[in-house]
Amino acid sequence: MPELPEVETIRRDLHAHLCGSTIHGLSVVHPGVVLGTPETFTDAVVGRRIVGSGRRGKVMWLDLEDGHAIAIHLRMSGQALLVDEGAPRPPHTHLIADLGGRRALLYVDPRRFGRLEIIDPCAPQASVLLRNIGPDALSADLCAETLRTAAAGRRIGIKQFLLDQRFISGIGNIYAAEILHRVPLGPATPAGRVTRAEMERILEQTHAVLGEAIAACGTTLADARYRSALGRSGEFACMLRVYGREGEPCRTEGCTARIQRRTSGGRSTYLCPACQRAGRRRRA
Ligand SMILES: [Zn+2]
Repeated sequence: MPELPEVETIRRDLHAHLCGSTIHGLSVVHPGVVLGTPETFTDAVVGRRIVGSGRRGKVMWLDLEDGHAIAIHLRMSGQALLVDEGAPRPPHTHLIADLGGRRALLYVDPRRFGRLEIIDPCAPQASVLLRNIGPDALSADLCAETLRTAAAGRRIGIKQFLLDQRFISGIGNIYAAEILHRVPLGPATPAGRVTRAEMERILEQTHAVLGEAIAACGTTLADARYRSALGRSGEFACMLRVYGREGEPCRTEGCTARIQRRTSGGRSTYLCPACQRAGRRRRA
């Protein structure tokens, strides 16, 4: 599932290549991927120029000249791909925007959980996709104290807390594991018992991990599902320290433990039992 670094990489591609372009035509192949009716969606975008872009958490949008924007949430398997006109369309192409100049923007989504919506970026509460999305994980306004307040009294594990998009948005299963390994803190540490110093470390490592992942254009795993809008793979997979590395040596200097995989709530999490033990033991 694309997380903040992958969505940001796609947004940057789209911004660089689409700003100033006019949407000449739109074909909604599978109406289920757009919120509202395909007719309303089409009327809102055709003939309009793209003038900018934005993102909060895993939701990105393309600003249109009339103040509205096309929001895209890729969810499990969505892809936004820029292709040359006439290039073969991948299977599961559900929407095609004709951008003129022999280019098209495709929305491709095998599992079809992703959605597109016409939004007013100044009124996120009116948007289905943005309504319950909390502050972006890289927002300069997000501070450790805000997160501590949100976590107060919660017994859910800190990893589950970081995955809850209402509290902090953009982090998914891969980067939550990486952030907590770097802090280091056990994923099951109750969110309400994370200290102020630990929360500051979490935010610090969130910026570090997500920043490095954006610089590497995101993480493309062995399933090769994630591609940037230009079809490129992300390079961060080889820099992952825990995710997907069960049984492999911990990459922390001086640590001789091996990475473990644990399952919680149907999801896998990866951790170093040595580096990330301190947080658990102190609370025992
Ligand atoms: Zn370790």
